[in-house]
Amino acid sequence: MHRFFVRENFAPQMTITGKDAYHITKVLRMQVGEQVQIVSLDQVSALMKIASVTGDEVSIVLEELLPGVNEPRTKLLLAQGLPKGDKFDFVTQKAVELGVSTIIPVALDNCVVQLKGEKAEKKVSRWQKIAEEAAKQAKRDIIPTVAPVSTLAELVMATEHIQLKILAYEVEDKLGLRQVLSDNAEAESVAILIGPEGGISKDEYTYLRAHGWQSVSLGRRILRTETACIATLAAVLYASGDFGG
Ligand code: SAH
Repeated sequence: MHRFFVRENFAPQMTITGKDAYHITKVLRMQVGEQVQIVSLDQVSALMKIASVTGDEVSIVLEELLPGVNEPRTKLLLAQGLPKGDKFDFVTQKAVELGVSTIIPVALDNCVVQLKGEKAEKKVSRWQKIAEEAAKQAKRDIIPTVAPVSTLAELVMATEHIQLKILAYEVEDKLGLRQVLSDNAEAESVAILIGPEGGISKDEYTYLRAHGWQSVSLGRRILRTETACIATLAAVLYASGDFGG
């Protein structure tokens, strides 16, 4: 079943326009009477039937409301140091599939890539599109948000309200992810920061520790930044019972 995010509040009759309407009519060649799943702006999930197709508009009517149950219980925020090349495309796609609600690309001391101004805005809107596609494919109930490229101070401000803040730190040799997750089993919101290829600097570590971030090891092997992101998200979801049922 195909899923679409409709940018209006839920109503028993709605209209799909723009590229989604094109996708339904021209790519999927769906016909009147066929069903689609939608999630509205106010996050109602529903099974809808195509009632009519006129020009580039697809009119749909309610068949059945669906319980919005595809979101993890733990609200996840992923912050990641900007990696090289197109790696952040991959990171965005995988993080959305796994269940993050927010992604914050962060400019850190050891980032090789410097993204500023218009170039940064273009990249963020590209990542936002990737997030939307991944959300549709993974049958998410929300479209996760990709925030503007942020500084570490901005990240700290944006995550003040989050209950558990985890810094994956390759130098950490005392505290492991497993321990922190079992000590914080009740946390309803978790932020994860993964460093870029060059890792997290000592200053960044000190600053984050002073702002309530817990530094954890992911084990003895050093993972690439994109591997560390996927593995950490999977582990956090597993610990909260949201991975593998
Ligand atoms: N250049 C660094 C490695 C950076 S790996 C070095 O050679 O030591 C990129 C990021 O992945 C790290 O900053 C960290 O956030 C995360 N990471 C990878 N392996 C890790 C591990 N074993 N423990 C904790 N974090 C890890």
